[in-house]
Amino acid sequence: MKVLVVGSGGREHALSWKIAQSNLAEKVFVAPGNAGTALEEKCENVDINANDFDSLISFAKNEKIDLTVVGPEDPLAKGIVDEFEKNGLKIFGPKKDAAMIEASKAFAKEIMFSAGIPTAEYKEFSEFDAAKKYVEEKGAPIVVKADGLAAGKGVTVAKTIEEAISALKEIFIDKVFGKSGEKVVIEEFLEGEEASYLAFTDGKHVLPLVSSQDHKPVYDNDEGPNTGGMGAYSPAPVVTDEIFSFTTENIAKPLINELNKRGIVYKGIIYAGLMITQDGPKVLEFNCRFGDPETQPVLYKMRSDIIPIILSAVDGNLSSVNVEWYDDATICVVLASGGYPKSYKKGYEITGIEDAEKLENIKVFHAGTKLENNKVLTNGGRVLGVTCRAKDLKTAIDNVYKAVEKIHFKDMHFRKDIGAKALRRLS
Ligand code: ATP
Repeated sequence: MKVLVVGSGGREHALSWKIAQSNLAEKVFVAPGNAGTALEEKCENVDINANDFDSLISFAKNEKIDLTVVGPEDPLAKGIVDEFEKNGLKIFGPKKDAAMIEASKAFAKEIMFSAGIPTAEYKEFSEFDAAKKYVEEKGAPIVVKADGLAAGKGVTVAKTIEEAISALKEIFIDKVFGKSGEKVVIEEFLEGEEASYLAFTDGKHVLPLVSSQDHKPVYDNDEGPNTGGMGAYSPAPVVTDEIFSFTTENIAKPLINELNKRGIVYKGIIYAGLMITQDGPKVLEFNCRFGDPETQPVLYKMRSDIIPIILSAVDGNLSSVNVEWYDDATICVVLASGGYPKSYKKGYEITGIEDAEKLENIKVFHAGTKLENNKVLTNGGRVLGVTCRAKDLKTAIDNVYKAVEKIHFKDMHFRKDIGAKALRRLS
């Protein structure tokens, strides 16, 4: 079959690679893709933006695409699935109404409270004065969140009341997030360790993937500003078997049921960003798609063919599906451009990827890269995700950093402690 993957990051390279591994996949088109997807066997990049639905639909019709898989949240929130389905095209991902679990934090919180899903106490505001008064009453630490999509920048974990009020000013008075900041969620600060939970759903059943943990801050020991994610590993030992089943039973399933009650059928991936507190897991956020970089180690750990799972989710018969996993641990270290997450330069040549991939069970997923005159150049903040599978996390960490050493580009930087928190927990 012919598959179209929409997006251009590390997550989309991992998805394209995994789909291309399937005997069922004859050809995988990636729109717009990156140098990694351009070089991947069976894959071909198509120069169409992920939000250009008309061109994507024409392409899917002309090429007789059998299945489209959407990576990023933006096209999902804008209704790409609704548009493809109107045109009779098969597509994996939630429709616009279901993608609201990520596109509106106020909607997500309301759903969570109705469904009894454990999450932080909160209140929603649509104007500055009332929000400021609430912050002053509650005190700090406190968390201020712009309602809509803000590429991970709409959340302030405020240590002081002043910090919270200045976040509210940015949102309501300076309007730095535009429409995404028309509403604000102010939330209780939760203490604990974070982890990511992902599951397939067909709108009725939930099929969990394996647990993982992202590393958002840019520097070692979780210092510095937040990024899109500097690395991840799977499984995450903080997510014990008990916490994992609790999350499926008390978070993922109630979410799907609550949406059903409101006439919303959610098909695709549900992603719960969890805080593992002393009282158990609580939801920090829902995302309506695979996480990036969690997808890289999670799919590298998956033994099963992914296409039948995706098709079952789209067709509504996920209950008959089983996923097999390697027993091994997997890890992904993100190599970023100098300056990221602030401004950075592009266009530097990357060397050593082939040498890194000669090492055992190493796969280098591309994110911000492009192919020019047969050279791989940097083309974004997060450039590569060096991914490794090994018998245990310690070996995976050792091996992944040996692979990282082989790769070079000007001003490259990366965290040297991906997985360290888990190792401390395991010992
Ligand atoms: P993403 O970058 O994943 O899109 P986002 O902008 O949707 O993130 P959240 O995941 O809700 O925002 O929050 C970003 C980060 O802020 C979390 O990863 C967590 O570290 C911190 N955070 C959010 N809510 C809370 C809370 N209630 N208590 C403590 N920390 C929180």
